[in-house]
Amino acid sequence: MLLYHDQIKKRSAVNIDIEDRAYQFGDGVYEVIRIYNKKPFYLDAHLDRFVRSSTAIKIELPYPIQQLKQLLLQLIEQAQLETGNIYLQISRGVAPRSHAFPGTIQPVVIAYPQNTNRPISALNEGVCAITTPDIRWLRCDIKSLNLLGACLAKQEAIEREAQEAILIRDGYVTEGSSTNIFVVHNQTLYTHPANHLILNGVTRSIVLNLADKLCISTKESAISEDALESAEECFMTSTNMEICPIVQINDKKVGTGRPGIMAKQLQEAFEHLIGK
Ligand code: PMP
Repeated sequence: MLLYHDQIKKRSAVNIDIEDRAYQFGDGVYEVIRIYNKKPFYLDAHLDRFVRSSTAIKIELPYPIQQLKQLLLQLIEQAQLETGNIYLQISRGVAPRSHAFPGTIQPVVIAYPQNTNRPISALNEGVCAITTPDIRWLRCDIKSLNLLGACLAKQEAIEREAQEAILIRDGYVTEGSSTNIFVVHNQTLYTHPANHLILNGVTRSIVLNLADKLCISTKESAISEDALESAEECFMTSTNMEICPIVQINDKKVGTGRPGIMAKQLQEAFEHLIGK
């Protein structure tokens, strides 16, 4: 089952053109929306960001966002998705290959469900990360299909037997290859400000809100690579990884080498939200 334009179809009934600009230029944007207990989690926040991303690259949605929301809800229902996610994408559409935008074309919207379980052992035990230079472009706030910088960083992490790459630009941590990064220093929780150098994660915003409720002091301020080395705690956040402790960076343990107290407190509060 998938959504193609405004219709739910079988995957085998859909053909993607070789001159779709997503395929040739990465000319489009996307979202990944988590499904817990058959319900989408923070769907409106994801759809808001979807509209912001597509507006930023001058792609107009072919139909109202409320219609897209209804179609996604139908897709979740028809796919009988219990725990998993929905991948949603819009491309500028199909046109003879040429860099400049074509005159009039129809954007291509697709969405499909994926069955994925919560990453329970990573959440409980934590994961290892590496640091690597942030070689991406200067509009990381757009959830663009162009993910080559992120793919290269993630692959480097895997080859160095880690699960995530923490990206460093001009001596400061920006974010992970597919996550936002939080660091605890002097009992304060730091994360990079939501500007053009990071994707403003839906989970990042949830965590900042939960931290306020838990009276954890937070600062949206970039942390230096040196400060990262002496972090008391570190964790990454994303739709798929939730709030996942990072217990080792490069060859060095973070704090005690076990998931930290703040991460655990926030995980617990997050579980309440999922359960709602
Ligand atoms: N930063 C980047 C670069 C990402 O790719 C993602 C995941 N899409 C995130 C942060 C986390 O965003 P979210 O919490 O909305 O999944």
